[in-house]
Amino acid sequence: MRSETPPEALGIFGGTFDPVHFGHLRLAEEAVDVLGLRGVRWIPAGRPALRDTPRVGPRQRLDMVRLAIAGNPRFELDSSEVDTPGMSYTVPTLERLRQPDAFGAKRPLVLLVGNDTFAAMAGWHRWERLFELAHVAVAHRPGYSIDPESLPPELAAVFRRRSCRDIGRLAGAPAGCIASFVMTPLDISATRIRSLLSTGASPRYLLPQSVLAHIHEHRFYTEN
Ligand code: ATP
Repeated sequence: MRSETPPEALGIFGGTFDPVHFGHLRLAEEAVDVLGLRGVRWIPAGRPALRDTPRVGPRQRLDMVRLAIAGNPRFELDSSEVDTPGMSYTVPTLERLRQPDAFGAKRPLVLLVGNDTFAAMAGWHRWERLFELAHVAVAHRPGYSIDPESLPPELAAVFRRRSCRDIGRLAGAPAGCIASFVMTPLDISATRIRSLLSTGASPRYLLPQSVLAHIHEHRFYTEN
């Protein structure tokens, strides 16, 4: 009897990417190896909720991600949030990905987040639904921990209930686990890059040269 091969897990990586940098790229690259993913789908937010309006428009941030991931066969770009009018929310995006004409219900999807983002998750639109749609894999970002004691109580309870030490389990179900993984610590943020650019200092080696050249060419982030 022929047994059906389970579908491979796919990473989903959302963010503002204002601009994309090597912290993002290493998170996604290392997640593929550590979590055994088929690849990572990058989904830049059009209008992100819960933060200030990005300094650069959605299309421009999408273009920067396109440049950053060019040539990496593990990565693919998804413009759905940029193409959709209104605020960008992760749960509706995942619901779209679960449609039969996208990935359907069975494919394991793993939402990739840094631990600062995870700690804020209880403020997200319909956040509890998220675990019915995807697993969550939390990357350790320098300066942030995921000590359950420091999480909001409702998130700490979900974390304790859904925490999965065996990363191999992610591929065994479409959704529902929270895993964490250690990545190369890179204390890089888009905030710091914007601040360097606004003062005329160099952010070189914090982000891909192709992205930096694009930023200079279009004079992004030059004013405070
Ligand atoms: P900003 O400084 O503007 O808040 P950011 O650098 O945190 O931006 P985002 O686009 O907000 O970048 O982040 C997208 C995702 O990448 C989030 O889940 C965030 O936690 C994660 N992330 C960002 N920078 C790093 C980093 N240096 N290491 C690990 N994860 C990171």
